[in-house]
Amino acid sequence: MSTGTTAGSTDVSRTSRDLLIGGKAVPGASRPAIDVINPSDGSVIAQVADATPAEAITAVDAARTAMTAWKKTAPRARAEILRRCFDLIIEREDELAHLLALENGKALTDAHGEVAYTAEFFRWYSEEAVRTIGTLTTAPSGANKILVQHEPSGVAVLVTPWNFPAAMATRKIAPALAAGCSVVLKPAPQTPLTAYAIADILAEAGVPDGVVNVVTTSTAGDVVSAMVHDPRVRIVSFTGSTAVGRSLLREAADHVLKCAMELGGNAPLLVLADADLDTALDGAMVAKMRNGGQACTAANRSLVHRSLVEPVTTELAARMSQLVMGAGTDAATQCGPLIDDAAVTKVSGLVGDALDRGARLITGGTLPGGPGSFYPPTVLTDVPRDAGILREEIFGPVAAIVPFDTDEEAIAAANDTEHGLSAYVFSADLAHGLKVAERLESGMVAINRGLLSDPAAPFGGTKQSGLGREGAREGLLEFTESKYIAVSW
Ligand code: NAP
Repeated sequence: MSTGTTAGSTDVSRTSRDLLIGGKAVPGASRPAIDVINPSDGSVIAQVADATPAEAITAVDAARTAMTAWKKTAPRARAEILRRCFDLIIEREDELAHLLALENGKALTDAHGEVAYTAEFFRWYSEEAVRTIGTLTTAPSGANKILVQHEPSGVAVLVTPWNFPAAMATRKIAPALAAGCSVVLKPAPQTPLTAYAIADILAEAGVPDGVVNVVTTSTAGDVVSAMVHDPRVRIVSFTGSTAVGRSLLREAADHVLKCAMELGGNAPLLVLADADLDTALDGAMVAKMRNGGQACTAANRSLVHRSLVEPVTTELAARMSQLVMGAGTDAATQCGPLIDDAAVTKVSGLVGDALDRGARLITGGTLPGGPGSFYPPTVLTDVPRDAGILREEIFGPVAAIVPFDTDEEAIAAANDTEHGLSAYVFSADLAHGLKVAERLESGMVAINRGLLSDPAAPFGGTKQSGLGREGAREGLLEFTESKYIAVSW
């Protein structure tokens, strides 16, 4: 398959895409193309090339070649290119948001939010690229100086999911490029068009050929395995499920690769007895419904003090039931479809199990029928502690309310999970909220708000939600190695 267009064209309406290797559009030589489906109606909207492991290795070749010059580029020059990436993404916000809504199904308001977040990583890391500050200290013995500098790790393999196709890619690409690394991005096959569109924009902004390569494939396991076993690759940065993260960690062990792992979550949302009701409801709507609930940070378990269960349940159900469901690209849509029919089946199963175990359905729960992978905004209350919905990521627009009586009970329930990505606490008494937040086993806690993602903050989880951080200075250091030089002068 060949598009007949050169890499670098930013026409996001293109319906067929080749691999992007070394700045060239490379047709997948031996496999039929992968269909890209619009989850709002099941139609095929485009096709992308299906890379073999051998083709992915040619992307590693290109990345290795390009890195030699890229890592020597002056930090200011890298910073200026990254800043142009930010400007161009903002300039193209409308077309990128439309593309996101089309291939992922998310509502346009969510898509615009994602594009802004996506672009911010380039602005932030354009500012950080000139600040890879090392240290110079005197050895305790006084015999020498200890000089520490941060060097780019090497070629990075980036693997991303479909739920934030733009932001999950740039949260890795921007710090990697700022550090002086080159990358091969393997996006999710459900949402590859956004990845190619962003790569085109980066080329237009001046990122040299081969510094960012994109390979789509229907055999992620084989293709990623081939790349992480190539000794020229020095870092694998993965965002996706904990199950796949575990298997990649095992593979990375063969070459002792540096790993950055952004894995699954099971976020608790705690409404403490002294919470302001409107603040908690506003926050809960954002924490639950951003991206239709398909976020690693989505509130999975709503732990509500018993004194507030009745008003929270009633008000949340009122707000959820008013959300307009529809195709992501329709301006009126507030809740788009799930990514595919398998996701609908999974969410239906979790809701059915909770109801069988005694939860009460307040709103939603009935599939709308018709085309598209839709699941309605749903509120369950009095969800029993043994329900699967409290253990697994729902990844859908379902709020599961669990009553509690004491802070101790709420904290124990919140921490009763293998995950530790994000948590939300609502309390009108900030000291009370902070005391509870400190005891949550979670990499990130939002107090009295439903949104915590910020390129300037270290994003990441504890326990089985991951290793390392993205965003902030920490995110750049993930793509570097500290080199210590002992100096006598
Ligand atoms: P997934 O099934 O783990 O897939 C993620 C990516 O890994 C996709 O590109 C996938 O490609 C690829 N992949 C699958 N098997 C692989 C293997 N054996 N080796 C290498 N790559 C492989 O996750 P998902 O369903 O797309 O995304 C949802 C998950 O991501 C949720 O658990 C969510 O919490 C998590 N997530 C975490 C964060 C965070 O920052 N912590 C952010 C967003 C999402 P294929 O689809 O072709 O298999």
